[in-house]
Amino acid sequence: MHREHTKVIQIGNRVIGGGNPILIQSMTNTKTEDVKATVAQIQKLTAAGCDIIRCAVPTMEAAEALAEIKKEITIPLVADIHFDYKLAIAAMEYGADKIRINPGNIGGGDRIRAVVEKAKELGIPIRVGVNSGSLEKELVEKYHGVTAEGIVESALDKVRIIEELGYDNLVISIKSSDVMMCAKAHELIAKETNYPLHVGITESGTVLSGNIKSAVGLGIILSQGIGDTIRVSLTGDPLEEIKSAKLILRTLGLKKGGIEVVSCPTCGRTQIDLIGLANKVENMVEDIPLNIKVAVMGCVVNGPGEAKEADIGIAGGKGEGLLIKKGEIIRKIPEDQLLHALREELVNWSE
Ligand code: SF4
Repeated sequence: MHREHTKVIQIGNRVIGGGNPILIQSMTNTKTEDVKATVAQIQKLTAAGCDIIRCAVPTMEAAEALAEIKKEITIPLVADIHFDYKLAIAAMEYGADKIRINPGNIGGGDRIRAVVEKAKELGIPIRVGVNSGSLEKELVEKYHGVTAEGIVESALDKVRIIEELGYDNLVISIKSSDVMMCAKAHELIAKETNYPLHVGITESGTVLSGNIKSAVGLGIILSQGIGDTIRVSLTGDPLEEIKSAKLILRTLGLKKGGIEVVSCPTCGRTQIDLIGLANKVENMVEDIPLNIKVAVMGCVVNGPGEAKEADIGIAGGKGEGLLIKKGEIIRKIPEDQLLHALREELVNWSE
């Protein structure tokens, strides 16, 4: 189902599906039992643009900690549960706004029933997650290996189990670390269901490979109108996940707002430390609430021309740079004052 037509699901104080903005998720990597550290991380992620946060709940102590964490945060909290249905029930009782389970690893019929009954009672959505790594043997055999078709069938089987228990407050996630298989699985499942889809490439790797795999995978999936909420999974600081997710959504035109920094690749004409400057500019603009394009170009030969399409830009010279607005050169600034001058312009920006 195109994201315009998926079912609207309420998660705490946010909604996904039905054409609502695509929400960005991340997961804490602190010990959930450590309330102070977890809250601190969630607050940082919230400030960076995280819309929904998920915490692992591997112990009863972690489930209990959710109640304390909830008091200190403003975004919906999702409890990530594996194997133990009692933890799923406890997480909901302690205030989780959604639970993520794989019904395949949570035990038999009665256990699923108990979880679903609790979710029903409290009106808490369930994210049904399946992963190519834990695909059932029968489906691997049926489709001659781990395939997109197998992942989709597995997910829809799980959804059916919950639907048969009379509950349809659901979100689906299907994951594979094989990017093209993951994309295909999303194309297939979007034809079969109207539940919102949580999209992500799993085990995508360290910051570089994770970013590339996520950008390619999410790019293919989201550009087809599929996907209601996303997570970029990186082996690194979750803050990086938020930055990447925002950039991916903006690049696809699915999120507005924020300063876009464009910079040239540098070449033999560059006479200032452009790489250093571009990185500093990127960090500097993060907290400036403008919706404009800033160009950081290496030279005065091509810089002004290339910066024309930007709202404001810098073109480097020898030990100095030109400040350019809408293609017009405004003034010359010594190299060591460029960053400051640009910040001043942005802070005092008016169209
Ligand atoms: S803007 Fe100038 S320095 Fe940058 S790549 Fe183009 S020609 Fe080279």
